[in-house]
Amino acid sequence: MSTENKKVTVIGGGIAGLTAAWELSRFGVNVDLVEKACFLGGHAIGFCCKATDACVQCGACSVEDMLKKVVDEPAIKIHLSTEIESITKKNSFEIVVKKSIPSSEKAVNGVLTGFSKNNQPLNVIVDKDKAGNAPKGAVYAGDLGTSGVLEADAVVLATGFLPFNADNKKTYGYGKFKNVITGLDLESIKRDHGGVVRPSDGQKPEKIAFIQCVGSRDERLGNLWCSKVCCPYALRMAEDVKFKNEAASISIFYMDIQNTGRNFPGFYEKCKSRMDFVRTIPVDVFPMEDDSLKMRYLNEETGLPAEDIFDLIVLSVGITPGADNKTLAEQFHVGINPDGFLAASDPLNRSKTESEGVFIAGTVEGPKTIADSMSHAGQAAGEAMRYLGVSK
Ligand SMILES: Cc1cc2nc3c(=O)[nH]c(=O)nc-3n(C[C@H](O)[C@H](O)[C@H](O)COP(=O)(O)OP(=O)(O)OC[C@H]3O[C@@H](n4cnc5c(N)ncnc54)[C@H](O)[C@@H]3O)c2cc1C
Ligand code: SF4
Ligand code: SF4
Repeated sequence: MSTENKKVTVIGGGIAGLTAAWELSRFGVNVDLVEKACFLGGHAIGFCCKATDACVQCGACSVEDMLKKVVDEPAIKIHLSTEIESITKKNSFEIVVKKSIPSSEKAVNGVLTGFSKNNQPLNVIVDKDKAGNAPKGAVYAGDLGTSGVLEADAVVLATGFLPFNADNKKTYGYGKFKNVITGLDLESIKRDHGGVVRPSDGQKPEKIAFIQCVGSRDERLGNLWCSKVCCPYALRMAEDVKFKNEAASISIFYMDIQNTGRNFPGFYEKCKSRMDFVRTIPVDVFPMEDDSLKMRYLNEETGLPAEDIFDLIVLSVGITPGADNKTLAEQFHVGINPDGFLAASDPLNRSKTESEGVFIAGTVEGPKTIADSMSHAGQAAGEAMRYLGVSK
């Protein structure tokens, strides 16, 4: 069948949505890419490179590479700052979209900064009242968005995940003690400063603890799943700190280490020879006078309480279901799992849903690395093309 006039709407412009859009466009399908935020790239566009003397295959640079390809592809129409209002389906989908002004929570003086459609830094005003001195060239979020109706023959949902909100693990003092940070904070610190520094004084930390499984595999929170990405990202970051400062002391507090990826086992063995692995989940954290932190935990070998002092504590937060999953599931008649991720209808093909013409890609379906999100998105694009009768 001809691909002429075949249209797919991809919802979500993270690595999964970008990959699905790109794969579809390569086979002549026209794509509307709808992104609620003012920027493309999702969570992973903000990640840093963790290469030491060699690439450690964290996947961060593949997001920037994909973003560059997508913004230059004429078959992909990008709608930033846009969200779905309603859907009707007869033979095809009619998707009503509206402009969306993102929350100003993370804005500095009413302005958010991120990547533009041309892959250049873009300043977006989200709060006009506060943005008196907005940088030259800043645009208003409302001017980026689209309001209207998008016609589509198929839909790919790629709206991603929410990082676990570390405020919900109160005993670790996130948000209260400056030097308790999350893995996401660590990514931005490294990206902004070129290395790891303490938020309280900008000094290089000499003694760092990583607490694994924060918000994952936690019965009390009802989050029983393994997030799959936090062991590899924590160990890569820890190894990067060691590479730059051999004297740094690193302790990893863990339950199990999720062994992911082809080269991970060897990398893990190397980490074990250079860091302390303490098999326990810490109880709580207290501040010290110099902004250092005292951590209390149970020593599983002796069965006795123990404590240690660190310059910096990193909470390895995991992946939780996206904020809009419930609404999207209702709007598109897609199943939702008890844990809140969107449900695949076929265990052997996790991009298919019970709704004809609707496919899912990336972490909207469950925890995944960047590489796994990309291959899942490739599968979703392939299924969408099969559904449309487009031959690859
Ligand atoms: C702290 C941390 C560190 C990590 N480090 C690594 C790493 O080093 N390597 C690795 O491989 N993986 C890592 N990951 C995992 C990685 O972040 C994910 O694999 C990747 O971001 C998934 O991409 P995605 O497109 O599925 O979702 P997202 O990145 O969440 O993108 C989803 C996009 O959809 C948009 N969206 C949401 N709702 C809507 C809506 N209703 N309408 C329109 N748009 C919407 C969002 O604004 C966002 O742009 C890490 C995760 C965490 C939490
Ligand atoms: S995969 Fe990660 S470590 Fe390797 S070059 Fe890319 S960003 Fe750097
Ligand atoms: S990847 Fe590691 S830290 Fe993350 S939930 Fe799984 S076991 Fe815990």
